[in-house]
Amino acid sequence: MFSVSGCFSETYAEARAKFCAAAAEAGGALRSWLNPKAHGPNGERLFLDTARFGADDAQNMLVLIAGTHGVEGHCGSGAEIAWMRSGGPAKLPKDTGALLIHALNPYGFAWTRRVTEDNVDLNRNFVDHDKGYPKNDGYLEIANAVLPVEWNEASAAETERVFGAFAQKHGAFGLQSAISGGQYTHPDGIFFGGTAPSWSNRTVRAVAREELSRAKRVGIIDFHTGLGPFGHGELICAVSPGAKSFARAKAWYGDEMTSPEGGTSTSAVVVGVMTDAFPQELPDAEVTPVALEYGTYTVPEVLNAVRADNWLHHRGEPGSPLGRTLKADMKERFFPAGDKWREMVWTRADQTIGWALKGMTGG
Ligand SMILES: [Zn+2]
Repeated sequence: MFSVSGCFSETYAEARAKFCAAAAEAGGALRSWLNPKAHGPNGERLFLDTARFGADDAQNMLVLIAGTHGVEGHCGSGAEIAWMRSGGPAKLPKDTGALLIHALNPYGFAWTRRVTEDNVDLNRNFVDHDKGYPKNDGYLEIANAVLPVEWNEASAAETERVFGAFAQKHGAFGLQSAISGGQYTHPDGIFFGGTAPSWSNRTVRAVAREELSRAKRVGIIDFHTGLGPFGHGELICAVSPGAKSFARAKAWYGDEMTSPEGGTSTSAVVVGVMTDAFPQELPDAEVTPVALEYGTYTVPEVLNAVRADNWLHHRGEPGSPLGRTLKADMKERFFPAGDKWREMVWTRADQTIGWALKGMTGG
């Protein structure tokens, strides 16, 4: 019997084993890319894995991506495995293949973090690093409150005071944008975009070139969690509303699709997102990207977990009792326990994949 919950995993290692087994079972071609710069909390090696279905020269390619933000990979991995186990590969339309990318950021997945081994938020890392970085003056104002020296009640109260004063001036969404819009000034901060392309950045570009350069149409669904109402999957298109790919995404997904730049999304406007790599690496293909963002808990609860995890890796001890408590909270904020949330994830993913396939094949 196909069980939705059984497609999800509690650890990176469990997810990887299930992904590879499900891909092999469904007749997919597996490839593994070892991250040479990091290992997991139990010393395990870390891989980005891909599974490919359909003809080598398929004109249309569906691309599902899990784990751009590490810990959020619990969600995307479950959806990918559910797609394979529920017969997705056998139901692909004519001239259409699929590429599943599992654990784009395996370090973050294994360590229950959003960031990579170099503390980089991949959805801020795909900027041109030879040009000047976007400014974020708001972050400069609150950087010390984001990463306090110690993690205790006094520092929590001080952070609340600083954030409260900022929100008073700029509104709650202004505060969220200052924190999560991305920053390039504090390598020990959160939502840090990095100073060079990360391993995951360089690797996904190689994957795109090697696996997708023969496709004419590429439809990408990048799985995320942590924003919006519990279990709701928001379809976010991060490209400019004036872009051709935006119009295409609108035609595939309808008016429900949101736009950070258009002010209709729960997400702050961000630049340098991971899916930008695909049109850059595949200049001859029509690339249509969308992020599928699943809600979990409130913005303050989620951002607090991200701050705590950042503090833990810079100033605390991940293996300590406090560290284990903060890690458990981090996991819950991005991957809620229980069957209901997971069932909602798969229902929405299945629907979205159907829309993408229909859109891509003109059906
Ligand atoms: Zn995310």
